[in-house]
Order: sequence, then structure tokens, then C-alpha cells
Amino acid sequence: MEGLERLIRYQKKFIKLHHLMVVVWLANVLIFLNTRETNLLHVLLILFAHGLNIFLYKVRYFNRLFIYCIVKVVELFTVTLLILAVNRYTSSAGAILYLLLCIEMFIIIDVSTNHMRRLLLLIAISPLFIHMLALLKHNFFTWAPILLISEIIVILISSYDIFHMNLEELNQQLFEKTRLLDESKATNEALLKTQEDLKKVNLLLAEQKLELQQAYNKVNKFSSEMYIQIELLKYISSVLNIDELLELVTDSIIGAIGVDTCSLAIYDISKDKYLFKVKSIYSTDYTNDFKTLFRKGKLDKFLTMKTPKIDNHVQSGAYDFIMDRHVGSLIIFPLTQDDQIHGLLIAEHLTKDMFQSNNIQFLQGIVAQIKIAVKNASLYAKLEDMARRDGLTGVFNKAHLENVLTDYYHQIEQGKLEQLAVAIFDIDLFKKFNDNYGHLFGDEAIKATAHIGHEVATAHGGLITRFGGEEFVLVFPNKTLDIAVEIMTLLHNKIKSNTLYFNTHEEVSLDVSIGLTVYPELCTSPKELLRRADKAMYYSKQNGRGRLTIDQPNSTAS
Ligand code: GH3
Ligand code: MG
Ligand code: MG
Repeated sequence: MEGLERLIRYQKKFIKLHHLMVVVWLANVLIFLNTRETNLLHVLLILFAHGLNIFLYKVRYFNRLFIYCIVKVVELFTVTLLILAVNRYTSSAGAILYLLLCIEMFIIIDVSTNHMRRLLLLIAISPLFIHMLALLKHNFFTWAPILLISEIIVILISSYDIFHMNLEELNQQLFEKTRLLDESKATNEALLKTQEDLKKVNLLLAEQKLELQQAYNKVNKFSSEMYIQIELLKYISSVLNIDELLELVTDSIIGAIGVDTCSLAIYDISKDKYLFKVKSIYSTDYTNDFKTLFRKGKLDKFLTMKTPKIDNHVQSGAYDFIMDRHVGSLIIFPLTQDDQIHGLLIAEHLTKDMFQSNNIQFLQGIVAQIKIAVKNASLYAKLEDMARRDGLTGVFNKAHLENVLTDYYHQIEQGKLEQLAVAIFDIDLFKKFNDNYGHLFGDEAIKATAHIGHEVATAHGGLITRFGGEEFVLVFPNKTLDIAVEIMTLLHNKIKSNTLYFNTHEEVSLDVSIGLTVYPELCTSPKELLRRADKAMYYSKQNGRGRLTIDQPNSTAS
């Protein structure tokens, strides 16, 4: 049907041309009207063919291609009559008209199949050919029309071939162009697809870049936190004094996380007690208040928490331990070790929304270090204490006495200490005691004596040290001579009245010889105190033993 549409479209144009040609031809007829050459039959035939064509065009050739072909054959037959006209102008016009009609057909009809091509050529040449045969048969043999017809036939066949050659070439070109167009379309599509793919890859890359950036930030943050932790560890592990350590830990947390206040309560297993520290950017020292609240059990609910608590919107009055501080967010970290409650760490900040879960991880690392550090510090303190004590009696040793006395001398020099009493006592006839009861019981006796000495000394703000063998030194700061005498007399009586049981039934007791001096009442030079107390004790030994000798003012003991 598409071919017929095209035919109608072209035919519309050609019919206008036919009108023109018919008008010109009629004019020609009118000019030669009075001549013999005018054939009325021609006029009628031409008008009939033309009219038939117009009519069939109007009814779209009944949508049939063969009807068009028939009309063309009729037209061509009619025009052939013109070609054979005697008038050479009419004949020439007929020849031109014939050629035009053929070209018209060649253009209009789709000649894609060989069959159509042959049919078209047959339609084009058959009227001429039939006329030529008719001429020959009726002895109208004249060379001129036959030659003309043959010429037209040759022209038609040749031009038809050329036309088709050209058409094929055009078709070929068209095909090439279409192919190229298809190719470029395909290329375009491929390009578009590549573009889409590139877009996707770009998006993916952007996502990956973002992920990488996040990972980088995380690593960066982690490494800076690690750095802080390592620095803290180095720092913390270098401190062996517990008070100093608590100060350092709270300071470090304030510095590392940038909080306002850090409170710490940590259980010192070696001392079996909690240690407390509150460090704050505010000038008030909250440690004692925190300690009181802790001991009252106000923080017990936090101690038993299994996980840390983060409150990023602290309501005023929600926590007792905050006291008068302004807090926007806080983190409460229960410290546990081997499922045992170990303490609490609280960090506070003025601003809301300060703490995230990563702060917990960071604090976890620090807390682990704190626990080790506290353990180390208490172990060190224990070792240090052991080094200051005597192995048998548990009281301080001579080395510690030297340190204590040096410290007191300095205090006296600086005017911080006004009085210092020093007493020394030695168990009487202890060699004999050992001989009588054995060395082991002798040890027990030394321990018992030291214990009494320790009780009396600490009860009066002093200390006792084992000076050597069965000899002990007592030191009392800020005690007058009278009080010192009172204390030493009390001690003497306690030692004397203390009963030891040898073999669980034999009652044994001891006596001691004592020497006492006091700065500044008796001895004006602090460094002479020990020597003069010893001299006084020696005096006791020399003068009957079991007695207390008081040093003489600024004199040697007598
Ligand atoms: P004096 O009254 O003059 O002091 O007579 P003493 O026998 O006590 O003489 P001295 O103080 O010189 O002797 C001290 C004795 O104490 C000598 C030693 O055998 C004994 N001793 C010293 N250290 C210990 C100890 O750790 N355990 C025991 N069991 N005995 C000790
Ligand atoms: Mg003795
Ligand atoms: Mg002795």
C-alpha cells in the first residue's frame, strides 16, 4: 500500500503537467484545424485518456496498481497515434509526450523487483511495438515512423537501464548511508552506554573515596588516640607514688578527652581501701565531697553497672556527685577487674552531646592502664614499705629511722618542728634469756616487746624502730620532756608487766633499760639526740638495769 500512496502523491503533480500538455496540444490542434492533418479521433482519444486518468486518479485507481498500468497503456497507445501523425510537430510532440509518460511511470512505480522492471518496460515499449507491427502488416511501410518508433524504443530501453543503474547506485548509496547511520547509531548507543557506565564508575569511585576518607579519619583518630594512650602509658607507668598517679590520671583524662572534670575512685587491693581523686578545671577541690558521697553509698548504683553510662543531656540535680558544677554531658565508667568491682571513673563536660561510643573505647584503654599502674604503684609502695621495716618484728628499721630523723632535723631547722623526744631501750640480760629459753623463744620475746613499743608509740603520735638486736629507738615529735617521760614510763611498765609463756605454762617476763632525751629542753643539738639517748640508756645499764634514765640538760648523761 505504501507504493500506491507514493504513486498517488506523484500522480497529483503529473496530472497538473498533463493538463498543461493537453492544453498546449489542443492549442496546436486549433492552429491546424483547417488542415487535413487534424484528426478529430486523436482529439477525442487524447481527451478520453486524459479524462480516464483524472477519474481513476480521483478514485485512487481503486487501490489497484494494475488499473494504473492499464491507464498508462491506454495513454501510451493514444500518444503513439500522435507520433505517427503526418504533421512533424505533432509527431515530435507525441514522441516527447510518450517519453515523458514513460519517465513518469519509471519514477512513480516502485521497481524493486525484476518482475516489475520487466513489466514496466513491456508496458513502455509494447504500444510502440504493436504500432510498428501494425504499420508493417498494413503495408503502411514507411521508414520514417518505423525509425522514429525504433529510436524511441532504443531511447526508452537505454534510458530505462541508465535510470535503473542510477537508481541502484542511489539505493546502494542510500543503503551505505543507512548502514553508516545505523553504525553511528550503534556507536552512539555504545558511547551512551559507556558514558552511563562511566557515570556509574564515577559514582562508585566517589562512594569509595568517601569510604576511604572515613576509614582514613578513623585510622587517623585511632592512631592519635593510640599515641595519647602510649604517651599516657609511658607517663603513668613511670609514676610509682599512688597519690601522684591519681593526680596524673585525672589530669591526663582532662587533657586527652578535653573534659572539665574527672572523678576517680579506685580500689587499692594492697591497702584494701578506695583511693579518690577529683580533678577539675574549676578551682574548687571536690575530692573530699566525692569521697564522702562515695562512702555514703550514693554512687553504689553506678559501681554495679555492667556497661558504661553516657548521658549527653544531663538534667540539673540528676546526679549528687556533680555538686555545684554545670554539666551538659557525662560518662560514668564502672571499673571492674575479674568481675570484681574496682571503682569508678566519671568524666564531665559543660557542653551537651559531648560523648560518643568511641570515647568508651578510648577510656577503656586508659582504664586498663590505670589499673595496672595502681597495681604497680601499690606493689612498689609495698616493696618500699618492706624495705623500711624489720623482717622479724614488722616495725620500722634503722635505715628508716635515719630518714625520719633527717626529715625532723630539717623541719627543726626550718622552724616547722619545735620539740622532738628520742628514747632508746635495750632488753636486759638477753643473752641469758636466749640461753635459758632458746633463740626461737628469744625471737618471740623481741616481737612481743616491739609490738608493745609500736602500740605505745603510735598511740602518742610517735614511731618505734628496731635499732639492732634487742635494741629499739622511739621518736616523738612535739612532745615535752614531761610527756615523753610519761610515755616512756608507761611503755616500761607495759613491757615489765607483759607475761610471756614459755612452753605454754612457764611465765616469763622481761625488763628493759631506757635512755631518754628531748630537744630542746635537754639536748640543744638535734643531731646529738640519738647519741645522748644511747648514753642515757647506757647509764641505766650501768646503774642496775630495768630503769629509765633522763638525759641531763646540755651535759653528758650521768
Ligand atoms: P645487757 O643487759 O647488758 O644488754 O645484756 P645482754 O645480754 O642483753 O647483752 P647484749 O645486749 O650485748 O646482747 C644482746 C643479745 O641479744 C645478743 C644476741 O644473742 C641476742 N640477740 C640479738 N638479736 C637477736 C635476735 O634477733 N633474736 C634472738 N633470739 N636473740 C638476739
Ligand atoms: Mg641487752
Ligand atoms: Mg643489746
